[in-house]
Amino acid sequence: MQNNNLYEYKEIRNNIWQIAEDSGVYCTLIKGNEMAILIDTGYGHRNLREFVEKNVSTPYMVINSHGHPDHIGGNHWFDTIYAVKEEWDVIDHFEEEPRNYELKEIQTGSQISLGNLHIDIISLAGHTKGSIGFWVREEGILVAGDALNENLWLFNYGALSMKQLYGTLNKTIHLDFDSYLCGHSDQEYKKEKMLTHIRNIENLKTDEETKQNTIGFETYCSSYEDVNGKSEIVFTISNLCSEEEGNCT
Ligand SMILES: [Zn+2]
Repeated sequence: MQNNNLYEYKEIRNNIWQIAEDSGVYCTLIKGNEMAILIDTGYGHRNLREFVEKNVSTPYMVINSHGHPDHIGGNHWFDTIYAVKEEWDVIDHFEEEPRNYELKEIQTGSQISLGNLHIDIISLAGHTKGSIGFWVREEGILVAGDALNENLWLFNYGALSMKQLYGTLNKTIHLDFDSYLCGHSDQEYKKEKMLTHIRNIENLKTDEETKQNTIGFETYCSSYEDVNGKSEIVFTISNLCSEEEGNCT
């Protein structure tokens, strides 16, 4: 861990940093030779803009991986924030203060050039409907926000169904990356760890013992573990399937 008085950060690569906020919340800074991007803004209790501008010598963009409060809380430090349109109402829902920045659209399927690095914006819909991932092609790494957390939440405003999450996981695992980063860890996970989420869904547990209360929601926590690691998926009954998918409880 490095520290420059404002934030601690871990160099995953010399050009990819996990910036640690309080309570296990991380933002990711990716620095190309012509451009940089900051992914997420944490709770924003400290001046994240000052940190970025101290450590980046190029122009930079700030992009939200999704609209949860621990990822958008520091948006107010910046003038412009990018997010996919599907997630704008999730940001509206969780934003606590009147907005003082401009929200601009970024599209899945687009690519951002940082000069020597190229970032593909991909949909990781599930955790929320507009969750996105940042596939850094040259580094073989996917920055996944909360969409692939070891403890993966599938409830609350904007969350999709288990079937939709399963579809996203199966699609994403075929992309050509080696490892991924998550919004609540400074570890770099091998891509194979995604298989534990897939197996967890295939063996989903919804018995009484898995019932718990998570931030005021009545949820189930299904766990699965194998050689690739551990998966916990926390969900409500209403996220077991969407209305269009019919009643699957
Ligand atoms: Zn989240």
